[in-house]
Amino acid sequence: MICQAHSPSTFRTARVIVILMSILMVKKILLDGTPCRKCSQAEEILRKRGYWDRIDTVVYAEEGMAESEGMKLAAEYNVDLAPFFIVKDEEASDRLYTRVFEFIKKELEVPSSGTAEYDVVVANLKYDGIEPGMILDDAQGAFGGELILAFSGAEDVVLIDLAVKNGKPFSVFCLDTGRLHSETYTYLDIVRDHFGINIEISSPSPVLLEPFVSEKGLNSFYREGHSECCGIRKVEPLNRALKGRRAWATGLRRDQSPATRSDLKHAEYDTGHLNDAGKPLVKINPLLDWTSSQVWDYIRINDVPYNPLHDSGYRSIGCQPCTRPLRPGEHERAARWWWENDTKRECGLHMK
Ligand code: SF4
Repeated sequence: MICQAHSPSTFRTARVIVILMSILMVKKILLDGTPCRKCSQAEEILRKRGYWDRIDTVVYAEEGMAESEGMKLAAEYNVDLAPFFIVKDEEASDRLYTRVFEFIKKELEVPSSGTAEYDVVVANLKYDGIEPGMILDDAQGAFGGELILAFSGAEDVVLIDLAVKNGKPFSVFCLDTGRLHSETYTYLDIVRDHFGINIEISSPSPVLLEPFVSEKGLNSFYREGHSECCGIRKVEPLNRALKGRRAWATGLRRDQSPATRSDLKHAEYDTGHLNDAGKPLVKINPLLDWTSSQVWDYIRINDVPYNPLHDSGYRSIGCQPCTRPLRPGEHERAARWWWENDTKRECGLHMK
């Protein structure tokens, strides 16, 4: 469709091309008349992400009723999964999606321009004294879906909540070391459902892990220190998770560890990780100036889900064998790798 407009002063004509797009979602009704659970979850995800009003039409595929509109579309597009999405526009042929996250990413999120020049010096001046949500909003604007949030603990879920509320694209990953508490695994799914987001999981490489545990056993960190195990279960999977990104965001706070985190900045070049152009990734730490109490106030006020282990005395939660509940009067990092020296209580993910 071509619209024409003119300025009264110059009578110059501008031509604006508008491509009309329509989105149809097909949901399934089961033989017993109940709605398909996956379809309801997909709708909930779209609602939580603020995209539900982008769906123009919903039609139903009724199991056992080949003449229902949704069943006819399933046959026409040769689909045997539900829900599915059909996107039509005037320019291209119809596009079909059977995975809601792929549909959101490809059709609904506004991609980053990919051309934004981001200078950490300028960014740090800009970020001084502003709220974490605004820092994240700026980074989401600059990097779009190429900004990936590292998710594991209380601070990280605050980041996700802020990013969702900003309404701009972002990605999330989590390192599954294989040694997390079962509560943490359950919590991951709760977070995924609560926000309607995809969480990319990065696991240890068997090529590195298997010889390591075969030779040294499963708990060598108590004897030899945690660096080798963390290197294999965390650092190497992190490197893979960050491959091809331009920026990542963490929930690091300065006061988490006076010994290792006091000189962090809101935005830094992460020379340990390079993007596809061979340049350092940008690392954003929006919560740097917050205290633990501010994080927990945010979680409670905004009704954000948190790991139930926090209710059993855990503060900073990592792998099960290397995390214990905090004792009265201890600093929050004291309950991680407690058998090692203060200055070594980092897993290597944030070492410069
Ligand atoms: S925290 Fe413990 S179990 Fe987890 S990767 Fe590090 S040393 Fe291994």
